[in-house]
Amino acid sequence: MAEEILSNDEVIVADSQIISEEPVGPLFSDLGLSEPVLAAVAAAGYEAPSPIQAQAIPVLLQGKNLLGTAQTGTGKTAAFSLPLLSRLDFSGPTPAVLILTPTRELSIQVAEAIQSYAVNMPKIHIVPVYGGQDIGVQLKALKRNVSIVVATPGRLLDHIRRGSVSLARVQAIVLDEADEMLDMGFAEEVEGILKEIPETAQRALFSATMPDAVKSIVDNYLGEYEEVRIQGKTATVENIMQRFVMVRPEHKIEALCRILEGESFDGLLIFVRTKQQTAELAERLEARGFNAAPLSGDLAQALRERTINRLKTGKLDIVVATDVAARGIDVDRITHVVNYDVPYDTESYVHRVGRTGRAGRTGNAILFITPRERRLLKMIEKATRQPIAPMDMPTGEQISEKRVAAFRKKVLDKVNEGGLDQFRELIQSLAEESEVPMVDLAAALTALAQEGQPLFPEMEDLPAPAERGKGFKAEKSFGLGASDEPRKPRKEGENGVEEGFLRYYLGVGRKDHVSPRDIVGAIAGESGISSANIGRIKLFDKFSTVELPQDVPEAMLMILERMSIRGNPSRFRLMTDEPPTGGNFGGGEKKAHRGGRKVREREGGFDGPRGERRDFVRGGEDRPFRRSDRSEGRPFRRDREERRSGNRPFREDRPFGERGDKPFHKTRRFGRH
Ligand code: AMP
Repeated sequence: MAEEILSNDEVIVADSQIISEEPVGPLFSDLGLSEPVLAAVAAAGYEAPSPIQAQAIPVLLQGKNLLGTAQTGTGKTAAFSLPLLSRLDFSGPTPAVLILTPTRELSIQVAEAIQSYAVNMPKIHIVPVYGGQDIGVQLKALKRNVSIVVATPGRLLDHIRRGSVSLARVQAIVLDEADEMLDMGFAEEVEGILKEIPETAQRALFSATMPDAVKSIVDNYLGEYEEVRIQGKTATVENIMQRFVMVRPEHKIEALCRILEGESFDGLLIFVRTKQQTAELAERLEARGFNAAPLSGDLAQALRERTINRLKTGKLDIVVATDVAARGIDVDRITHVVNYDVPYDTESYVHRVGRTGRAGRTGNAILFITPRERRLLKMIEKATRQPIAPMDMPTGEQISEKRVAAFRKKVLDKVNEGGLDQFRELIQSLAEESEVPMVDLAAALTALAQEGQPLFPEMEDLPAPAERGKGFKAEKSFGLGASDEPRKPRKEGENGVEEGFLRYYLGVGRKDHVSPRDIVGAIAGESGISSANIGRIKLFDKFSTVELPQDVPEAMLMILERMSIRGNPSRFRLMTDEPPTGGNFGGGEKKAHRGGRKVREREGGFDGPRGERRDFVRGGEDRPFRRSDRSEGRPFRRDREERRSGNRPFREDRPFGERGDKPFHKTRRFGRH
């Protein structure tokens, strides 16, 4: 391995074969933690300490003060809580430990994490105390002997002033995310609290950055301390295309499934943090039909070797591993590394992604980052000296293409394999008896064969409807595809209809007790057009209008014509093109579409109370139609014939997969992709 030493903490690894020997760090059992704490860590499935833990735990176990430069995602919570739980005496006055955090979310999260590390220490009580919660609840909680208080500064100071908490016997204080805390304007409160802490108390301060305000707290209140930090080692990552996906933890599985369907990969390695996660995630992937297996220290050596061998020989494609278990994996066919959980530091990132891009090939590294871990992304970019691009999530169309290709292959393989005599006979007799053409029977069988994996999925179907929580919202900033973005107001075209949309008439209105929700429900339910693709709806007494994408297939329009809304026939049809002409504004009526019924409501508008023309397309409901509103001699909405022959992307007249240009399903998609 060629190394060029740049400075104490900068090492450029100029060789693309970076990875083969990895430093094996200490084990939790090497660090001097207490038995109950070690048992809790094992139960949590942590295989090895993260770098910040390996450095901070021994210092804090010795009772020393500590300055830690570390951000969320590095394992800093365990770095300070494991040694404090191991070392301190919790049988005396309370609280014994105070942890200050900038936000309510963090105080709850940290309290929960400590609770899990103290699971074998039943006498220890932990309480989060934060602004916004009913103070009465907190007063009650603080009256019971609370061993560890995890608080936001403002609310804690409030309690100190009320006398509901005393810091006189605190044995240790931790300032978590100090830079954020001071950024949020808590400097005074923090100082006020620190003044209450006994001289003898052990102090630790964690901060991702070191602005002057933090330095001043360090200088004035940390006393003598040792410093630990994630080494800013830089290492080039060659031959690897790096991308990231910003995703909330609860949406990771869904994002992963989409990637697995959308990316072309050979072997793929997924990194998670704990042993339990390897098993859980592999199981969930298997349940979705992916060929995946776990790899962790929980498995016997023989089984681990077997798994790696299966990956090598192509019998297995996806391995879900912890850092420790993946050490030394050297498999050329790994085309992708997915960092499902962010690595603790840049060194570990470089080790992980170096599992791909081997033997001179190009590799792919995909990094999942939760919004809270944003800083780690920056750190990794800095350390690898390469920007990591936001990943465009595979679209429904791309996934559909893959599913169709796989399906076609499967069908042709089956034909080549033979042994279909009985089935052929069955289908032959079915075709003869029913007089249904063979191609229709084949189409029906194809539809049946989809089995939860639709060949032409709507975004809602992808990839695990059951897991779509409150929206795989895919905020753009989270690097997820635009196709999932919440609907934005669209641009209005010249006729007042949204660009790319057409306006349709529905013969039901307020008098029929119909609401916009009923209309969306009926259209989405009957035609499968997703609600996000349904444009503006206007409700009138006797009718309503709805805007739909202009490339909705004819077949779907026919379905909509036949649907009913709240028990009433929809009388769905396109609003006609002609603006009214002449004094009586009668030109917009289309008897044919209304069964000859004479109605006052006309396409494009309706008659106002004094007989004046009101147009809801251009002028809105509250101004009379003006001649200038007309699109003189130029139809502003195309009629069906025109739509049929125009350059619409939908072509019903083309058979499935023919012409080899676009698979048929492409022609059936519409809307946001
Ligand atoms: P933190 O940086 O403290 O917010 O921790 C980030 C995440 O890493 C949390 O979900 C922890 O449960 C997890 N974690 C912390 N230390 C370890 C470890 N040694 N092994 C595996 N996971 C860990």
